[in-house]
Amino acid sequence: MSSSAMTTRAASPVRTPTIDAAGVVDRIPRGLCIGGTWRHAHGGTMPVVNPANESEITIVGDADLEDARLALQSCADAQPGWAKTPPRVRSEILYRVYELMTQQADFLAELMTLEMGKPLPEARGEVGYAADLIRWFAEEAVRIDGGYALRPDGGARNLQLKQPVGPCLLIVPWNFPLAMGARKIGPAVAAGCTSILKPAPQTPLSSLALAELFRQAGLPPGVLNVLSTSRAGDITPPLLASGVIRKLSFTGSTAVGTLLLRQSADKVLRTSMELGGNAPFVVCEDADVETAVEAAFVAKMRNLGQACTAANRMFVHVGVASEFVRRLGDRMASLVVGDGSATGVDVGPLIDDAARRKVLMLQQDAVDRGAELVTGGESIDGPGYFVQPTVLSDVTADAQLNDTEIFGPLAAVATFRDLDDAVRRANDTDSGLVGYIVTENLDTALDLGERLDVGMVGINTGLVSTPSAPFGGVKQSGLGREGGRVGIDEYLETKYLSVPVRR
Ligand code: NAP
Repeated sequence: MSSSAMTTRAASPVRTPTIDAAGVVDRIPRGLCIGGTWRHAHGGTMPVVNPANESEITIVGDADLEDARLALQSCADAQPGWAKTPPRVRSEILYRVYELMTQQADFLAELMTLEMGKPLPEARGEVGYAADLIRWFAEEAVRIDGGYALRPDGGARNLQLKQPVGPCLLIVPWNFPLAMGARKIGPAVAAGCTSILKPAPQTPLSSLALAELFRQAGLPPGVLNVLSTSRAGDITPPLLASGVIRKLSFTGSTAVGTLLLRQSADKVLRTSMELGGNAPFVVCEDADVETAVEAAFVAKMRNLGQACTAANRMFVHVGVASEFVRRLGDRMASLVVGDGSATGVDVGPLIDDAARRKVLMLQQDAVDRGAELVTGGESIDGPGYFVQPTVLSDVTADAQLNDTEIFGPLAAVATFRDLDDAVRRANDTDSGLVGYIVTENLDTALDLGERLDVGMVGINTGLVSTPSAPFGGVKQSGLGREGGRVGIDEYLETKYLSVPVRR
């Protein structure tokens, strides 16, 4: 197909929603959660928009500095009591939230689809993942341990204990509205920390629903506060400078993450940073092509490509490239685009018009620099921020998408002949979140797994996210890990007591 195809129009998206938006939204509180009660925001309200049709779904509280001050006070007041609460009590509250999330999975999924756009089956998948994260940390709450050792000279006993870090500020993005919050609130609650959660302004409803479930599960007032706001840039610096907040956990872009790291420096705050990715997906000469296409499809299309773990650059050995590209193209061309709540839809809208324009710009840039359009590439009219699933082959090294998170349903394939060259190109980025390898050879898999400069590697799979493994990146993809056995440590300080031996 020639690049002139990029000017034609794709079939209209499916636009027959199945969700009663008003009925779903009416089930959740839409104020601010401060001190265990729902309050009107001093800062007024802000709209929440459905990206599938650009209509206003509802309005929510828009926190200002006064609201932030109240949330901070509530966090500070609740911290000493919560830190002393027995681990079993904290664990059981988390278990109850897990059960409530599981019972209300359909409702939570509908809410997420309304505000974020992902198709209902994917939204249900995220609810399951988020609930599993809460259950994982219910299990971790009662496994916080310490140490006991004799000093080498025998003169003292070294006792180690772990204590909650203290009040936390948790900032999450819009792309996984429930799971990103759960991955922070779960360990904070389990460790005995109080917190303020700031959802993204595009997707506050899932966070409000989650906070209400925590309230229903018996979480004491003030342990979790939620501030929806359009003023993040105004209210965050005073929170970080307050001396009350002891930890910042942030998931979002590298640009904002580095700004927040600077703002955290004055008070030497503990920080966890889950930042942007630019994942390489390497298909070796000996790969099973069916496995490669399935893994590539998952790594690319999970969350419509709007994932930090999305395969941004695919490097495929020339020996298997044409079959890989053809099969991936067929798979992408068969997808149905439309309102995520409509029956049979595979691909919903992107989050907003800026995201849509960015994907189209990166696609056009790659084609202008010599990439071949395999499938897709046609524009889709609004309302709604739809982009057609697209595959490009022969993407050149100077295409902008090599240095930019695409964050949309655009698969960019380049070829290689020499595996060392593929590794060099895969590592030629400031990001280092995740990499993917497809090969039938165990030695190759392990060798490449060690050589990729990333925090996580998927081998013959396009999915690495699980509550039971440490999620996080190296280089500018972040600091710290979420989930796994180490996840709770991000919310704990290690203290050591020296006890002289008197004999
Ligand atoms: P973003 O612009 O960095 O926003 C993320 C969150 O930070 C939002 O709640 C946002 O709220 C807030 N924020 C922005 N500026 C702020 C400031 N000055 N002070 C305090 N808060 C501020 O990121 P995004 O575009 O929404 O999300 C996509 C990015 O997240 C991608 O780069 C993706 O790779 C990354 N991500 C990483 C992971 C991971 O685990 N590594 C997971 C998911 C997503 P406002 O919009 O109101 O400012």
